[in-house]
Amino acid sequence: MQKVKLKIGPWFFILILLIIPSGLYTILELSAMDDQEELYEGIYKNQLDAVLFSLNQYADDNVRAWVNDLEKLDWEVGPKKEIYKNWLTNNPQCAYIFSLKADNINGEIEYLTIDNPALEADIKSKFEKEQDNIGKIITYYNEGYRKIMGFDLDIEHYSMFLFISQLNGEKYLSSMIVDSRRFISDILSPRMQRIAGENFILTVKHISSGNMVFSTLLNTTPESITDEQSIWLLPDYSIGIQPKGATIKDVAKKRAYNNILFLLLIDVFLLIGAWFFYRNIKREINLAKIKSDFVSNVSHEIRTPLSLISMYAETLKMNRITEEDKKGKYYNIIYREAQRLSGIVNNILNFSRIESGKRQFTFDLIDINDVLNDVMTNYSYRLESKGFTAKVELCDDLPMIKGDSEAINEAITNLLDNAIKYSKEIKQIEIYTKKVKDSIHIGIKDFGIGIPTKEQKHIFDKFYRVTKGALALHAKGSGLGLSIVNHVMQVHKGKVTVESEESVGSTFTLVFPIQK
Ligand code: ADP
Repeated sequence: MQKVKLKIGPWFFILILLIIPSGLYTILELSAMDDQEELYEGIYKNQLDAVLFSLNQYADDNVRAWVNDLEKLDWEVGPKKEIYKNWLTNNPQCAYIFSLKADNINGEIEYLTIDNPALEADIKSKFEKEQDNIGKIITYYNEGYRKIMGFDLDIEHYSMFLFISQLNGEKYLSSMIVDSRRFISDILSPRMQRIAGENFILTVKHISSGNMVFSTLLNTTPESITDEQSIWLLPDYSIGIQPKGATIKDVAKKRAYNNILFLLLIDVFLLIGAWFFYRNIKREINLAKIKSDFVSNVSHEIRTPLSLISMYAETLKMNRITEEDKKGKYYNIIYREAQRLSGIVNNILNFSRIESGKRQFTFDLIDINDVLNDVMTNYSYRLESKGFTAKVELCDDLPMIKGDSEAINEAITNLLDNAIKYSKEIKQIEIYTKKVKDSIHIGIKDFGIGIPTKEQKHIFDKFYRVTKGALALHAKGSGLGLSIVNHVMQVHKGKVTVESEESVGSTFTLVFPIQK
């Protein structure tokens, strides 16, 4: 039993070390699925933000390059207005330029290339409204940083970029009036196309009208936008980004589901493995129990004949018995019990030979009736001494079969032993042979305790014993008899069957095929 306990250990180890943690982890993962999705989404959104940021930076760099360009112009070559106009021809996204002295921003606008009075009015009103921001641009410049600010104009699609520039050694608040749509299509869109590649769709939206003005997916507007940022220099426009194909949510969901699926798969494998492990251990435990039951059953069975033999032998040895009759009776008892003992030992030895595959069978042409008659001659004393009557009916015209008479003798003896062991008041046994179609039947019928229906399929298993009912429980036995009978019949290509009813009796039939 100690050994068995040791083997339960690994099962609990598996449960505690593998199944429980992996099960708990799966549950945890399942409950954290939403968090995980959010996490993936967050990480992904940061990446999209970075893409949009880089586009804004690009627009800013472009305008900064323009400003540097303008500053480098040689103002001595001609009047400023003319120089501006030349520059505008080379940079058609820029519609107009003007400058005014930075220390007097409320003064006259100088060098204005504009000849559009409505636009001029629009600019002036913007100037008034944006006094604060303009102040900031000047302060930044005085502190060494040139800030370029973008403002939306009310007229057409124009935007205004304001910045400080040095012209001829003087500080000017300068401005570029830019055609926003052209700026987007000429400057931003080629860059957007390159960034979008196969992975993204990038769009530009006009915020106040809500219209999509550009999309890298030609002529198509994506159904939804995953991330959006306003364009720093064009405040009424925003850039949007959308991953091509699956949305981030889909990607995150798919990844999370795949993880969970994989975990569940591992759990299933673990459970299957644990189940096999458990089954093996259960088998070991059963085997250990069977072994210990077997030893105790056999010891029990051997003890009775041994004590009878030693008791009668001792009485005879003391020479106290003078009557020859009595002496003969005692010798007989000793002989009978020794026979029984050797029967038990033979059964165990035969079983062990069968198990190890070493049992040899010798096949001869035999008459089943002869074998049965032999058994009955040897067995009649035992039947009579136990108060049994046997009714024997043999079929006259049985064909000879090929068989091992000794093994068949042993099978019949085992069945008769059981018939005696498991009978109560009605001490009667019927034995018959008959020919049924292509087979010969040997039947052994008793009127004993019978076998419960659900036990009948197990009784031919080795070591199996029925434990229901007082007689079955207390009858001595090893649980080997019927398994030997079964084996003998298999070797003869036949079978053993049972018909039995509790408290009515049992009929065991040995079926031998007739060889042609
Ligand atoms: P055992 O040594 O226990 O008799 P067997 O293999 O011969 O072992 O039989 C297995 C079990 O089948 C027995 O324990 C008994 O319960 C049941 N059995 C066998 N023969 C009979 C019978 N004739 N009547 C009732 N029960 C029987």
